[in-house]
Amino acid sequence: MTHRHTVQQANVISAKSIEFLGKYEIPAMPTNFAVAYELMLGKNDPLLSSVRDLADKDMLDAFRFQELYSTFIDKRPDINEQMINPIAHLLGTMMTACAQSSKTVDRYQRQLNEGGDALEEQAADPQEIIKALAQATQQVRDEQTQMNARLTEAEKEVKTLRTNLEQLEIEAITDPLSELSNRKGLERVLEDNPICAEHNCLGLFDIDHFKKINDNYGHNFGDYVIKQVAREIKNHIRGSDIAVRWGGEEFLLILRDTDLKGAVFVGNKIREAIRALRWKNTRTGEQLPPVTISGGVTQMDPTNLLLKDLDATVERADQSLYRAKQSGRNLICA
Ligand code: GH3
Ligand code: MG
Ligand code: MG
Repeated sequence: MTHRHTVQQANVISAKSIEFLGKYEIPAMPTNFAVAYELMLGKNDPLLSSVRDLADKDMLDAFRFQELYSTFIDKRPDINEQMINPIAHLLGTMMTACAQSSKTVDRYQRQLNEGGDALEEQAADPQEIIKALAQATQQVRDEQTQMNARLTEAEKEVKTLRTNLEQLEIEAITDPLSELSNRKGLERVLEDNPICAEHNCLGLFDIDHFKKINDNYGHNFGDYVIKQVAREIKNHIRGSDIAVRWGGEEFLLILRDTDLKGAVFVGNKIREAIRALRWKNTRTGEQLPPVTISGGVTQMDPTNLLLKDLDATVERADQSLYRAKQSGRNLICA
């Protein structure tokens, strides 16, 4: 579940969050703000129902909000102190600027009234009164210019925070070595874009004799092999397919709108591309033996595509992978 918002949308959600906190007299502290913001996004149903429940029982207060923070926000790696503190700081700055602006308007109103009264009562030289009002107008204009500059600055900060937040979200669902999705990423992709085609396949691929690769050429070279294998996998799938680093040197693929024959075909293309890669010991110039993979593919049950039911499908693919290993490796079995 990724939240992509424009600065304007983020500002609207922020304003609604502050309003909500104000309504229940909950201080707009970073943690409370985070809960309110998540709530205003309107996508977290469990949080929404907990808040409704508490509000119905007239129990929605700062203490309960802290509990909501621990339950619904704290455990999420993508909304953390790194993000909340700057947002709170920014909000504080903007709220101070708004309060200042409101004071300025009040003062100006008073000056206008006083000037009007003085003119009516002919208590002072009209030219002096007009001069004083012109000065007051200039002062308001100057303060307004300053306020605009601060708001522009704040808008820039919101943009930076948004970029940082998006980056954190991507990092949370990406395996850093292979740059493929991690398991959490698979959940996210399926949540955001559920599988709906009739024929879909799942594949499990495992590098052959990888222990030997590590033992013979070192762990760093092993890592390099994982990276290159992941790159070949990515090069051979469509944008709608999903590639996941499932284990150390194991990869899971979900091929949408693909029947079993098609999945074996894709699997073999990947297998051949990896077999064709050339490896060289950069220190000695020695040509290294080819790296191969084995794979097992299986059809996904079209009535059973939810992630919680994925285990049985993975198990079937694993059995096919086992057969590929037993049959001599460098093979794709269905
Ligand atoms: P098989 O052909 O039967 O798959 O043999 P294998 O040697 O590949 O078997 P196994 O799956 O048991 O070995 C996987 C090895 O991968 C063990 C582990 O030390 C190594 N490994 C796991 N994660 C990483 C990693 O991130 N980097 C490197 N370099 N090695 C890893
Ligand atoms: Mg393995
Ligand atoms: Mg292996």
